[in-house]
Amino acid sequence: SGGRGEMDREVNVQVVLRCRPLREDEQRANVQSVISCNDQKREEVTVLHSLFKEADKKFTFDKVFGPKSQQRSIYDHAVAPMVDDVLEGYNCTVFAFGQTGTGKTYTMEGEMRHKASELPDTAGVIPRAVRHIFNTLEARKADYSMKVTFLELYNEDITDLLASEDRSKFAEDRHKRHITLMEDGKGGSVIRGLEEIVVYSPSDIYKLLEHGSARRRTADTTLNKQSSRSHAVFSINIHVKETVGNEELMKFGRLNLVDLAGSENIARSGVKEDRAREAGEMNKSLLTLGRVITALVEHSVHVPYRDSKLTRLLRESLGGKAKTCIIATVSPSVYSLEETLVTLDYASRAK
Ligand code: ADP
Ligand code: MG
Repeated sequence: SGGRGEMDREVNVQVVLRCRPLREDEQRANVQSVISCNDQKREEVTVLHSLFKEADKKFTFDKVFGPKSQQRSIYDHAVAPMVDDVLEGYNCTVFAFGQTGTGKTYTMEGEMRHKASELPDTAGVIPRAVRHIFNTLEARKADYSMKVTFLELYNEDITDLLASEDRSKFAEDRHKRHITLMEDGKGGSVIRGLEEIVVYSPSDIYKLLEHGSARRRTADTTLNKQSSRSHAVFSINIHVKETVGNEELMKFGRLNLVDLAGSENIARSGVKEDRAREAGEMNKSLLTLGRVITALVEHSVHVPYRDSKLTRLLRESLGGKAKTCIIATVSPSVYSLEETLVTLDYASRAK
């Protein structure tokens, strides 16, 4: 994937795999681990299928992070190089993709309580990116401004996770109706009615992230684990003004950090009751994302951005000079084997 081929055929999609450790309860129950991340050949992962008298299955990725891998190492290898591009005025997107319970939110957000000065080892991609961006801009003594948005996409409906309290206080549904996705006529999208919040420090962003995530979690209990079936998109928009000689140069970059719906939603098409539509819509977003990435990797003439809201709203940040990183997450447990294979299949096809 990344950087292969001639300049004009360059594909900026990187796919890495992360396998979480067995949880304490799994260890106590002696749950068997069926994932082997070879430390010598770190780009390869083996699913120990032999347990079922079948051949082991091997999948390769741009990088494989085993159960002992630290949050910092994921950030440094997979995300930090993209932040440098964002500060140069490019759009980049990081996706966490995998079965519910495999560490998507842990990888993207990690531990949520942050002091402004230091991050805990358990801090995930978003707080690390925030710190990296502010540190770099401060060190350059750059003239910049920054805005963030945080939205949830559920059943192809957009919810603003940062909508001000007094707007959502009146009616739970009201702020949803205000949000519409429009084409900007230049091949990009504009989200009407989404709050863009100006931020001045890392702690400003941490507070917003915490606030928005709490909203998503609250909805979890009331709407039957909504977050496992919704996509959360956190975007940091950075405007940098540089003076070169007598000229002023404006750079506008965007970093999208996307916690995708659980990959189990791809396979789950035969669900009964009201969930049928939901399963269909979920399939649409995840499957379209897969098709868009495949089309980009294969340099297809037609890239089906328009087929789902997720790909429409991220359109400017997928393809062209934009860089994309998919962090596929899996559980090592034998009980997740089937779902793990779905994730590995999907993710390795994006390469
Ligand atoms: P998802 O968002 O994919 O549903 P979570 O991020 O909520 O999954 O992770 C499920 C549980 O596993 C959480 O309790 C989380 O703290 C834990 N977990 C996930 N990945 C790791 C990891 N790499 N190291 C330690 N704990 C993890
Ligand atoms: Mg989650």
